[in-house]
Amino acid sequence: MNMTLRYILAVFGAVITIHYVLSFTHTEYGRATSLSHLTSHFTGVNPVDITPIPDRYFPPFSNDTLSVDRRANATFVILARNSDIDGTVRSIREIEDRFNRRFRYPYVFLNEEPFSDDFKKRVSVLSAAKMEFGTIPKEHWYQPSSIDEGKAEAGRNRMVEQGIIYGGSVSYRNMCRFNSGFFFRHPLMEKYRWYWRIEPDVHFHCDIKFDPFIFMEENHKVYAFTIAMYEFEKTIPTLWGHVKDFIKLHPQYLAKDNAMGFLSETGGDTYNLCHFWSNFEIADMSFWRGEAYTKFFEYLDQQGGFYYERWGDAPVHSIAAALFAPSNQIQFFDQIGYEHNPYTHCPRDENTWKEEKCTCDPKRNFDYDGYSCMSKWDRLW
Ligand code: GDP
Ligand code: MN
Repeated sequence: MNMTLRYILAVFGAVITIHYVLSFTHTEYGRATSLSHLTSHFTGVNPVDITPIPDRYFPPFSNDTLSVDRRANATFVILARNSDIDGTVRSIREIEDRFNRRFRYPYVFLNEEPFSDDFKKRVSVLSAAKMEFGTIPKEHWYQPSSIDEGKAEAGRNRMVEQGIIYGGSVSYRNMCRFNSGFFFRHPLMEKYRWYWRIEPDVHFHCDIKFDPFIFMEENHKVYAFTIAMYEFEKTIPTLWGHVKDFIKLHPQYLAKDNAMGFLSETGGDTYNLCHFWSNFEIADMSFWRGEAYTKFFEYLDQQGGFYYERWGDAPVHSIAAALFAPSNQIQFFDQIGYEHNPYTHCPRDENTWKEEKCTCDPKRNFDYDGYSCMSKWDRLW
């Protein structure tokens, strides 16, 4: 190698070395000479926006850490489609901020289709808790072959004519039947006793600094709600008749001191349409897995009303909880500020509202709305 070439290589090597040293020791220099910065002149992206904030601006916080050592055998359960990702992310963000960063309960996500990598990636950044993603077995989701599709279709068409929400939807019916009788039998759910149901795009308005699962376990509660309201009668025209037939067949399942007074103005002859709004639920799955509810769901499923009508999981769960458990095992959580469009439960207790930094307006608490069934609940006590 001649001297000139050797000289050129040495200078070139020195420049490269200095460039690397500078780009690691001087953030500004590194940024200005980075490949992404140089190419940004062609792509139009301004890299100034992504200059990292130096560590010294991040004071140490311990808020993110788990602060309990005792947890119940419990999980969150979220049924969602891949297309529900944005709303799901928002719901998880809120429950994490308000509750789960302290408690770190795991999540189970369920879907009749496999979750996409994008869905899994976007939810997994939100919590340090364990997250599991399950596909629902076909026989737990789709309309069974025992259903007469001609009759089901006629039922759907009738409901569309009557302008009933989701009246023409088969997938909504699959969802209601799944939530009524199958979610607690999914393999990923089997290891848990307690669940807290969460939907996309709901809001948790207040800090929840107590553990509702432990509270329920220690106080022998089986089912908890925050909002109670009337069902659309046209979605369940024959449901109560079947409930009465079931009770005649199996009177032993009726609990002593049950909450029939919440469901009926006539001692059980007619249904007043009151139910717990099941998009929020915290409950004991051993109740759903037990003999009374198993028989009850099987009986209702045989009548075909999930498809011939449009029975919701809310009235089905609520009627079972109100009849097969004593009323004092059903818990109303005033403390949990909760919103699912268009209704909000805001704590009635002013001290809770203040202490727990609630974002809801107490004046708009659904408890006082004419469409709420809270007065039927309150009269039991
Ligand atoms: P609404 O609250 O009665 O208006 O019903 P939603 O549309 O909110 O559905 C209730 C829950 O079931 C939500 O968690 C939805 O994400 C979920 N869901 C509804 N339909 C489907 C479906 O076809 N597939 C799946 N995987 N989830 C569904
Ligand atoms: Mn919903």
